[in-house]
Amino acid sequence: PSDSFALDAERPAIRFADVGGMDAVKDEIALKIIFPLTKPDLYKAYGKKTGGGILLYGPPGCGKTYLARATAGEINAAFISVGLNDVLDLYLGNSERKLHDLFQQARALAPSVLFFDEVDALGASRNDLRHSASRTLVNQFLDELDGVRYDNEGILVLAATNSPWFLDSAFRRPGRFDRLIFVGPPDAAAREAILTLYLRNVPNTGIDTAALAKRTEAYSGADLKAVIDRAVEGKLLQAFKSGQAVPLSTSDLLEVIKTQKPSVREWFASA
Ligand code: ATP
Repeated sequence: PSDSFALDAERPAIRFADVGGMDAVKDEIALKIIFPLTKPDLYKAYGKKTGGGILLYGPPGCGKTYLARATAGEINAAFISVGLNDVLDLYLGNSERKLHDLFQQARALAPSVLFFDEVDALGASRNDLRHSASRTLVNQFLDELDGVRYDNEGILVLAATNSPWFLDSAFRRPGRFDRLIFVGPPDAAAREAILTLYLRNVPNTGIDTAALAKRTEAYSGADLKAVIDRAVEGKLLQAFKSGQAVPLSTSDLLEVIKTQKPSVREWFASA
């Protein structure tokens, strides 16, 4: 394993308005980590403590990472994404210092959203080769987490996992990832919102998004985006062949839905 990894930092241009559905989740994120940063006086006035991070969990493709990026976009913060499997490899490479450097870099870029993906990789109930090495790393990680004074340093901590049951309970203590939020497959209204978002810039004949939402039960946000991408590719191919650009129609999308099935059922079956 290498002894360093490239820090993946960006200032996302997307905001909450670019995330379809999830109104309750957005409210929770705002209350728990955005407003404490932007309106600290209000929290003081209500005697409410701030701090702690949010753990998002749920099936793949339902928008955990996207929502975390949008959180950074909401407050013009840097978004730093860390895959914890990479950190584990790093640790095995004997470079635990890098974990500290990572938090230091988040401080240097503040305000920043520090996003830990695959956080279950640090789980105590994981039974793989990495497990024996991970105890020290977990402790160091928790120390660093406790050291983030997020109200005056401007670091928001979010984490995501597909398998929360692997996560060490030490992560869930107050001040750490003390809020657990399920990010599930979008309901019909959210599916309609997501379809509308991704159809914004596609020439179309007026799409019946309500009808499509009805036919896409259990599709994730990523699945819905893929349906539109596929349909658009079909239109492009048609345009290249005929030399004529034809707008996208509802039936084009229904055609794709027939063959492209939802992906999240597998997650529920294994969960
Ligand atoms: P994983 O567990 O695989 O990391 P995830 O839950 O983090 O999955 P994302 O990577 O955030 O999923 O979602 C994949 C893509 O699907 C996003 O980049 C985005 O384009 C789209 N997407 C998912 N959900 C939504 C949504 N609610 N609104 C808009 N786009 C969405």
